[in-house]
Amino acid sequence: MSFLSATLSRVKPSPTIAVTTKAAELRAAGRDIISLGAGEPDFDTPDNIKAAAKAAMDAGKTKYTAPDGIAELKQAICDKFERENGLSYTPKQVSVGTGGKQTLYNALMATLNAGDEVIIPAPYWTSYPDMVLLAGGEPVVVEATLENAFRITPEQLDAAITPKTKWFIFNSPSNPTGAGYTREQLKGLTDVLMQHPHVWVLTDDMYEHLAYDGFSFCTPAEVEPGLYDRTLTCNGVSKAYAMTGWRIGYAAGPEQLIAAMRKIQSQSTSNPCSISQWAALEAISGPQDFIAPNNEMFKRRRDLVISMLSQIDGITCPVPDGAFYVYPSIAGLIGKRTSTGVEITDDEVFATALLEETGVAVVFGAAFGLSPNFRVSYATSDEALTEACGRIKSFCASLS
Ligand code: GLU
Repeated sequence: MSFLSATLSRVKPSPTIAVTTKAAELRAAGRDIISLGAGEPDFDTPDNIKAAAKAAMDAGKTKYTAPDGIAELKQAICDKFERENGLSYTPKQVSVGTGGKQTLYNALMATLNAGDEVIIPAPYWTSYPDMVLLAGGEPVVVEATLENAFRITPEQLDAAITPKTKWFIFNSPSNPTGAGYTREQLKGLTDVLMQHPHVWVLTDDMYEHLAYDGFSFCTPAEVEPGLYDRTLTCNGVSKAYAMTGWRIGYAAGPEQLIAAMRKIQSQSTSNPCSISQWAALEAISGPQDFIAPNNEMFKRRRDLVISMLSQIDGITCPVPDGAFYVYPSIAGLIGKRTSTGVEITDDEVFATALLEETGVAVVFGAAFGLSPNFRVSYATSDEALTEACGRIKSFCASLS
């Protein structure tokens, strides 16, 4: 339709949201659906955080705030970066947005000109390339391999950098693979970036607190302080604090960039929800003691899923370091047919047939830029995971 913008035709709807919506619709229509699609914890926001939101409402904190966040939350974010990441920021270097998504989007909108390149390692979170495209830039995808445990190498990064490169997007632990970069592996990448002073780093640290088997989280500006002046360190409360619906993300970086992001935000959402900001303040500065037991639970679920999926012929399932995703390869199933005659030509066909025949919703790998794979979000009950993996196993066994 010519009424719609040319920019719109550059992007697709978010596949993670599409799968989650489809699963909810099928369930509402009476189907027995197990959704392993949504990347969100299945437990409720902790009570102390909800209480802070209620108190904020009662105290009348229900009006506009500064576009990029209340002073109290910005200070708490500075304290968090100092305490947990050894990074010193002032409140003027902090931006709070409506979820991690808006924060990333503001940064890209504020900096990209037509033709500017953004390096994105694949598998990537499905929204990165589309946000770059919406902002007028060009995604440059660098494919990690399963053999290298879904991590790109310094040589790959170096080869992808051109004079037009503006940003390098980094995400560890990763959505969708759960792969994390050790300090040494990240240093390999930051060493390359030090050779290219025109490239800025946008690091999405949303899964910082979800790490297993002693994996030690690190972030680019901490590993290489020489990158501090050209790094935007992004994070949020959605995953670790089970606050996906509250929509609070944040970023810290050079003051000029933060001011540019504020300008964009002042012309879009005005400010993130006032009540959610007070809740996020409690999340970041209140008790953190529920995170360790939650991680125990997530690790147990990860191990359950890995052990069940690894027994399936045709599926290879690497063990992730963090987040709550596994990203199995279905290379061994391509070319087979379902009992109804559908040929599994790619991971999208696989995910569609799996949903139709078994009621298990997963997100197909092409959405994340590396195929043939699918993403399982294991942030759901042990019972649901056991049942879902059993159904995936029967489905795969039925292929011929
Ligand atoms: N980040 C989550 C996911 O990957 C939430 C949905 C989205 O925003 O993509 O499933």
